[in-house]
Amino acid sequence: VSPELQSMLDAHELLQKFYHHLLVNTKDGQHALEYLLNRGFTRESIDKFQIGYSLNSWDFGYKFLTKRDFSPELMEKAGLIIKRERDGTYFDRFRDRIMFPISDRNGNTIAFSGRSLGADEPKYLNSPETVIFNKSKILYNFHLAKPSIRKLQQAVLFEGFADVIAADKSGVENGIATMGTSLTEEHITLIRQNTQSITICFDSDKAGIEAAFRAGNMLIDAGCSIKVAMMPDGLDPDEYIKKNGPEKFRNEVISASLTWMAFKFLYFRRGKNLQIEGDRLAYIETILKEISKLTKAVEKDHYLRQLASEFSISLEALQQQLKQVFFTEK
Ligand code: ATP
Ligand code: MN
Ligand code: MN
Ligand code: MN
Repeated sequence: VSPELQSMLDAHELLQKFYHHLLVNTKDGQHALEYLLNRGFTRESIDKFQIGYSLNSWDFGYKFLTKRDFSPELMEKAGLIIKRERDGTYFDRFRDRIMFPISDRNGNTIAFSGRSLGADEPKYLNSPETVIFNKSKILYNFHLAKPSIRKLQQAVLFEGFADVIAADKSGVENGIATMGTSLTEEHITLIRQNTQSITICFDSDKAGIEAAFRAGNMLIDAGCSIKVAMMPDGLDPDEYIKKNGPEKFRNEVISASLTWMAFKFLYFRRGKNLQIEGDRLAYIETILKEISKLTKAVEKDHYLRQLASEFSISLEALQQQLKQVFFTEK
């Protein structure tokens, strides 16, 4: 590691410790700590994930770092401070935010994401792309989750920081998340090096379901086996756990995950009224297309029977139509 990179890593580590100290030990951080505790974060989680608080000040971080002889130019490159065009002075990127440290796979802090406490936009402010932080390669919590992912041969993919942390508190320690970006091929490579089995547990709102469909298809194309965990009422995992507790999350969400095909049955049904003949036929056609992509005869048969019984169609008719779908698709 070059001295410049090392200095960037050192700055992150020192700041992380200072942010954490401000959150848990000081009057200035008290409202932030109360915010987290009210949301259901525990002291254990706050320590384990080294969550912190950045003061409502333009330059406390700048002063903290320069007093310790870190070069302002380098700290700007590390994304921690920003230069004012007007007079060349610097100000802190993160002010009055809950700070989530982001680690590389060795556990070095390489970036932060700061959540606003109120309605301040953006809700989450991330470090920019730097020489030490490449968002498309980093998965939140990968470093801590890796042993559990390898042991269980299963990873759970979440949307957000709060979801990973609430799941961890509930005994689901193999959770990871992208950071506001969609899943990349690099993320998939990193997961695939440790397991081929992934449970997608995104928010059960419209955006989350669409994102789960996209991520699932990418993972399937990469040869993974996929399950999809869903929550009722459009909740996200963190909200679900706060409302229903850890046991229900483990038993009724994670353990009750849908197979990829069962998820697609639900996915293609949204926005359709299956009481209406046209919608019903279009839906059956779509599902037949999905079934035609399956390679295992037993699976094909299983889902055809399911379709037949749900819509009171003869299995023969479905098998007949499946052949047609197969030939028109090729
Ligand atoms: P919270 O529970 O704290 O309100 P969330 O995780 O439920 O947050 P979502 O709106 O569901 O928030 O977004 C999912 C994830 O997307 C966030 O955890 C964060 O990583 C990312 N994200 C959300 N909003 C932004 C934003 N404005 N800029 C960058 N990333 C964002
Ligand atoms: Mn969301
Ligand atoms: Mn969410
Ligand atoms: Mn949330």
